[in-house]
Amino acid sequence: MTRTPHTSRRTLLKASIAYLFQAALVAPWVITTKKSLAQTMRPTPGCGPQTRPQMEGPFFTPLSPERTSLIESGMSAPRMVLAGQVVDLSCKPVAGALLDFWQCDDRGHYDNQGYRLRGHQYTNHQGEFRLTTLVPGEYPGRTPHIHVKVQRENGPVLTTQLYLPDHSRNARDFLFQPSLSMARRGSDLHFVFVVA
Ligand code: FE
Repeated sequence: MTRTPHTSRRTLLKASIAYLFQAALVAPWVITTKKSLAQTMRPTPGCGPQTRPQMEGPFFTPLSPERTSLIESGMSAPRMVLAGQVVDLSCKPVAGALLDFWQCDDRGHYDNQGYRLRGHQYTNHQGEFRLTTLVPGEYPGRTPHIHVKVQRENGPVLTTQLYLPDHSRNARDFLFQPSLSMARRGSDLHFVFVVA
């Protein structure tokens, strides 16, 4: 069963153009703002305001395979585990919510032909999820991040991006938001999505 939204070529093309346009034109003046925010704000644990959406970017592929680990044979780059929960605005766990993750590899490459480092899963009855994957690398213009779409049953799709905590490149990224920074919990990373 898949609720992964379909994206037309036209939408993808538009997204690509918007992405590049923003990277080229918006970045210079946002850099200063992001730097000061990164220095003063910490991510809010638990439920709170709805998780902030961010642009999809040009590299989303619909109909990813269902899996909780994106590790495949031959991948030797450092790994990470992202664990967390999907909750609603009143902090109630959302069971059966779809999470569709996609990311680049440690060298900043996306697989746009197949489904390498792409996969979706559903939250358990406690609203929890767990993803094993590679630590994403940097690519030109971007700090390391993981893209994700979150959708509760019959709900709207939240598209956003998650960031590595305290990464030195975050402060110079035109999209980085401290509230979208994953938190460290022992050797794992943690994030709580708050959906309407
Ligand atoms: Fe990206």
